[in-house]
Amino acid sequence: MDCLFCEIVRRKIPAKVVYEDEFCLAFYDINPQAPVHVLVIPKLHIESCDAVTAENSDYVAKIFEAIPKVAAKAGLTGGYRVISNCGADACQSVKHLHFHIVGGVQLSERMG
Ligand code: 5GP
Ligand code: ZN
Repeated sequence: MDCLFCEIVRRKIPAKVVYEDEFCLAFYDINPQAPVHVLVIPKLHIESCDAVTAENSDYVAKIFEAIPKVAAKAGLTGGYRVISNCGADACQSVKHLHFHIVGGVQLSERMG
C-alpha cells in the first residue's frame, strides 16, 4: 500500500515525532499553518473519519487519550484546535486518518 503516513509510522520517511505509543504517532506538520501544528495519526491505516467503524474506533479513542499529552509536550498551555479534514470538500490531501492539533496563537472564531 502506498500511504505516506503508513511510511512515517514505519520510519521509512522521517518526521519530527512529538509523542508515540502502541496505537498512535504524533509529529510536526511539514507545512505548519500555526506556530504549533502537530498531526496525530493511528498506527493502523484508516482512510478518514468516514472509515471509522466499531472494529477500529478503539484507535480513535486512543488518539483522543493521547491528545492532551501531545498538547502538553508541544507547549500548548493556552488551548488548541483539533481538526480532521474528511474527503474532497474538506480538502483532505493525505488519505490516512489524522487530527491536526493547531495552536500557539489566538485562533479565529471562524472554522470554514
Ligand atoms: P490534510 O490536508 O490531508 O488534512 O492534511 C495533510 C497534512 O499533512 C498537511 O497539513 C501537510 O502539510 C502534511 N504533510 C504532508 N506530507 C507530509 C510529510 O511528509 N511530513 C509531515 N510531517 N507532514 C506532511
Ligand atoms: Zn496509511
